[in-house]
Amino acid sequence: MTTSSGPVRVRYAPSPTGDFHVGGARTALFNYLFARHHKGTFILRIEDTDQKRYNPDALTWLLNGLRYLGLEWDEGPQVGGDYGPYVQTERLDIYQNYCRQLVEQSRAYPCFCTPERLEAASQERQKQGLSSGYDRFCRNLDPAEAARRVAAGESHTIRLKLPLDGEITVHDLIRGDITFQNAHLQDAVMMKSDGIPTYHLANIVDDHLMEISHVLRGDEWVNSLPLHIHLYNAFDWQPPHMAHLPLILNPTGKGKMSKREERAPDGRLLPVFVRTFEEKGYLPEAMVNYLALLGWSYDDKTEIMSREELIERFTLERVNPSPAAWNYDKLDHFNGLYIRDLPIENLTDRVLPFVTAAGINADRETMLKITPLIRERLTVLSDAPQWVDFFFVDQLPDYDLNLLIPQKMSLADVPKILQAARAILAQTDFSHDALDQALRAEAQTLGIKPGQMFQPIRVAVCGKMVAPPLFETLAILGREKTLQRVDRVLARLGVAV
Ligand code: GLU
Repeated sequence: MTTSSGPVRVRYAPSPTGDFHVGGARTALFNYLFARHHKGTFILRIEDTDQKRYNPDALTWLLNGLRYLGLEWDEGPQVGGDYGPYVQTERLDIYQNYCRQLVEQSRAYPCFCTPERLEAASQERQKQGLSSGYDRFCRNLDPAEAARRVAAGESHTIRLKLPLDGEITVHDLIRGDITFQNAHLQDAVMMKSDGIPTYHLANIVDDHLMEISHVLRGDEWVNSLPLHIHLYNAFDWQPPHMAHLPLILNPTGKGKMSKREERAPDGRLLPVFVRTFEEKGYLPEAMVNYLALLGWSYDDKTEIMSREELIERFTLERVNPSPAAWNYDKLDHFNGLYIRDLPIENLTDRVLPFVTAAGINADRETMLKITPLIRERLTVLSDAPQWVDFFFVDQLPDYDLNLLIPQKMSLADVPKILQAARAILAQTDFSHDALDQALRAEAQTLGIKPGQMFQPIRVAVCGKMVAPPLFETLAILGREKTLQRVDRVLARLGVAV
């Protein structure tokens, strides 16, 4: 599709001030889906003009996070493009030229006010019952005098001259028309005294020069809209189409989603940064599917959608302007579904790094046999180590012997059961069916329930009560290791073997 002004070109334009938040990831994803849907271009632009808030790690977190989610950008850092550079601090001379042009055309003016004077002026305005902010003192300076002071090297900023009254109406593709009163706007700073532009100037100049067709961004920028449109007008440029995405609320539905990671009352960490979700083992497929539904829907029932389906179905008409609450349980549910949907080889390859990172000396061949046993039990990939650790040790660490006690029995009953089990395990074929049959028959002979038979065996070989299905586990461990572990616990129980 093309708009009236040409092909679709959208950008995600983060400021590298901190960790890559899922709110930013949602904005990036909507831009990506919109671009792919319209066979357009998805651009990444780094808005790093706020040097005070610059964080040197932020760019790495951002680029890694976008790649983890599979949101490959067509133009931007590391990939280049015809409209570069894509990092704003590499474009300072461009902004200076455009700013000079605004001053020459009397659409902006130098402001020599010191921070102290600005503070005093703002307080004075408040005393008069006006809104805080700048009193436009330098707007009325004689231009020749102002030019002379600039030439003499006096410290100054450049401010945009905004209309003093009237109103401006902006069309937002998600929210419809929004009208702002000009009297409420400030003559905002475009260029700081150090020659670095503000976000507003750099953002508009770049959107224009990079031929951005649609701006899709977080709703916190709605208040900047009138200023931005006035700035386009000051340049005599056509603004792109505007769309402000719905706010993301925290899981209670009250208040904005936290910017920091906190602990739930039950002690569970509530991630908000993309890299934390990656570290916990959320699949990018599940993240993308989940994030797509934060403010957008296809219909009132379809939830699970592949990337291709999302691309095909994504339109701004179906973005809902009302806020969307984050839901960890829903994301967990999605992740579990996507995990179970993966072919075993693929899942094994994704699980293995988590297992080895937990210090487990696992090999791929054995893991290929284990993965089918645990995949139903995984919510996130980092759940895997606790399910598989006992397969890969020569000897289990000592565990609490009370774990061996079957329901309605005591520790004194355990040796008899384990000795009987040992005899079976020593001679039965180590396949699921043979073990199942023989151990059930033995339980019957002993006059106990199968569960009472299996529990001490499970704890003896796994060192814990919650473990993958028993017979498959035994088959993978093999006879030798199984018997060693049973013998060892019998020895711990003081039974000679
Ligand atoms: N740099 C701004 C941000 O961090 C970009 C806002 C916009 O997309 O215009 O959100």
